[in-house]
Amino acid sequence: MSDIVFAFQIGGKSINPEEVEDEALLEEINYVVATIYDQVGDLVCPEHKEAPRFLCTGNNFDDISVETHACCQKLIKEVKKRMNV
Ligand SMILES: [Zn+2]
Repeated sequence: MSDIVFAFQIGGKSINPEEVEDEALLEEINYVVATIYDQVGDLVCPEHKEAPRFLCTGNNFDDISVETHACCQKLIKEVKKRMNV
């Protein structure tokens, strides 16, 4: 299991995926998480052994942009390569 951390900010509201009880909302979140997992997998930084973190922001779930945070540029570069951006 990877240590990838996700944070969501939708419509100006922070959402903690672990506290969401609304099923429809959870489904949206899980879809985004699964998509990123598919691309990035269990990537960790070869140097710092840290997993990347993702901040997903947007007005709604149809309009999400993903911001990558990581311990160093090297890991960010690797993430972007895998995500094809
Ligand atoms: Zn690193």
